[in-house]
Amino acid sequence: MSYLIASNLDEVISSLRDGSGKARVVAGATDLYLQDLPYGLVDLSALPETTVIEEKDGFVKLGAAVTHTAAASSPLVLSRARALAEGCETIGSLQIRNIGTIGGNVVNAAPAADAAVALIGLGAEAVIIDIEGNRRQESVENLYWAYNRSVVDSTREVMLSLQFKPCLGGEGSAFTRFAARRALALPMVNASARVKLENGLVKEARLVAAPVNPAPTRLLKTEELIIGRSINEETISMVEKAAAEEVEVRDSLLRCSARYRLHLVGVLVSRALKTAADRALDPGKAGE
Ligand SMILES: Cc1cc2nc3c(=O)[nH]c(=O)nc-3n(C[C@H](O)[C@H](O)[C@H](O)COP(=O)(O)OP(=O)(O)OC[C@H]3O[C@@H](n4cnc5c(N)ncnc54)[C@H](O)[C@@H]3O)c2cc1C
Repeated sequence: MSYLIASNLDEVISSLRDGSGKARVVAGATDLYLQDLPYGLVDLSALPETTVIEEKDGFVKLGAAVTHTAAASSPLVLSRARALAEGCETIGSLQIRNIGTIGGNVVNAAPAADAAVALIGLGAEAVIIDIEGNRRQESVENLYWAYNRSVVDSTREVMLSLQFKPCLGGEGSAFTRFAARRALALPMVNASARVKLENGLVKEARLVAAPVNPAPTRLLKTEELIIGRSINEETISMVEKAAAEEVEVRDSLLRCSARYRLHLVGVLVSRALKTAADRALDPGKAGE
């Protein structure tokens, strides 16, 4: 097996091209090392553009090889996209967060990947380049092909970065999860919310729950229900009911019973929405 630490994008592209489907991109390797390793690994985490965190041209932009630790502690992410900081800080353990990356979390395509759930809630898009040099931008929620399978083919495509609109005045975001333990445990359910309020009423909302499908899932009906409403006790209990009714789940030996998971979906989605709305009303709470 060969392992190349690429120093620029051309090197990544040419190594994948030379690998003819037998070499693939690697970042932190926390997922990849648990699988059958390919013939060649091309590490992109030394490329400066894959570790940048910045606000530019009206977007928060994060390189695909930004680690969970870096995202969770970034002042920019904490103030403009609290949901992502919260998602990243719950992942695995300190050691995993120090090397695992947000790009790897998305491309690994686990149904309840914590950073991916937060990114989808924020409305993130990924910038992808293939070995022919074609660049495209795709919504993260459209990058799921099947259970644990991404649309991104890491033997011929590289995710360079992720970007989304910052939560500015009147907007807030939040992520929440429930697991058997506080560390090193997959979530039974996780959820994220992004909400924009105008005159105290919901103008836009994104609500995400997982794992309820092979991909983290937008709760489109529940989102629609709350447009034009204020976030009060009545709305929160309506969301709790509507979110649980919008999804279908099965009993899982790995996670919990279907009945308990449905209960958690309602509780966590409504909790994420309430926290996101509190932050929208009081930007000082964005970093809390
Ligand atoms: C003990 C343990 C606990 C964990 N706990 C959690 C948890 O609580 N929550 C959670 O969500 N995850 C968890 N994970 C999973 C894992 O740590 C994350 O998914 C991590 O973000 C993966 O990132 P990585 O950089 O290590 O990816 P890698 O392992 O390097 O790559 C994963 C996949 O993505 C591809 N890839 C990586 N980067 C790119 C790129 N830029 N472009 C194209 N393809 C790319 C690789 O080819 C591979 O197929 C855990 C893993 C372990 C081992």
